Amino acid sequence: MISLKSASAALLALSACLFQPTDNVRAAELTAEQIEEGQRFVVNNAIFILFHEAGHMLVSEFNLPVLGREEDAVDALSSVLLLGAEDEDLNTTIQDAADGWFLLDEAKEDGPQEDDFMGTHGLDRQRAFAIVCMMTGANAEFFKEFADSLEFPEERRQECVFEYQKARDSWMSLLAANMKDGAKTKFQVTYEPAGNEDLQGFADLLKSAGALETIATVFGEGYNLKDGIKITGKTCGTENAFWHAGDREITYCYEMAAFHAGLIANWFESQGAEEATSDETAVEGEEAADELTNATAVKLKKKE
Ligand SMILES: [Zn+2]
Repeated sequence: MISLKSASAALLALSACLFQPTDNVRAAELTAEQIEEGQRFVVNNAIFILFHEAGHMLVSEFNLPVLGREEDAVDALSSVLLLGAEDEDLNTTIQDAADGWFLLDEAKEDGPQEDDFMGTHGLDRQRAFAIVCMMTGANAEFFKEFADSLEFPEERRQECVFEYQKARDSWMSLLAANMKDGAKTKFQVTYEPAGNEDLQGFADLLKSAGALETIATVFGEGYNLKDGIKITGKTCGTENAFWHAGDREITYCYEMAAFHAGLIANWFESQGAEEATSDETAVEGEEAADELTNATAVKLKKKE
């Protein structure tokens, strides 16, 4: 297996992180629990997207062949790396990522447009279900509740076991020639000042969670990559993330974090009445944390 252990170690640090509320999230008048959960959602979606961009980086740096759509292939790589670590925090990361694509799909009131069908990516809802397929294929038991909440068919779950294995084995065999025990790569991680107060809150959130550093840690060991690849957080003027082969740079735009915060805040607001009830009965300490971990899945159950 390729550096799945180090992926796990880097991301475990997240669970120890107590995020400070940012103005954007607070502005939506959410409870303390919702803020914490929302911030976890934002960071986890950033991590999934960064893994996705790192997949483009590997394809580009190692000149890997890609059969089919590269966007789908690197989504599968993100899933394989996160799930392969067999770590509960990383399982939450990927669950948040799937929820992120579902919420994005539902935010588009008019449904997919002609542009979406012509684009490089699968439709948001397809990307979400492709991740769910990897999840349930990797660990049917752990993700049963989540898959049930989405009414993901049993027959598909059976197929997904093989689809996950195929995706994992294909990536591992492609990467094998470009990996070496003990290989180390230095990345250059930069959180540029956001240039405005609202986005700076997200820059601070990502920095305190070490989101960009996660990529430097995971891909900085065991891969035959040349030093100097940049991983940059910045204000871009667009909600996106990029791999730029010429500059050897992964860029994560702070606007993307703000966008995910908006998605989850709207979701909390739309669940307002039910939230108020469940907050009153919330339990303390570790049990409460466990409930938060499962909260998104449980809530998605009620969505049509
Ligand atoms: Zn992409």
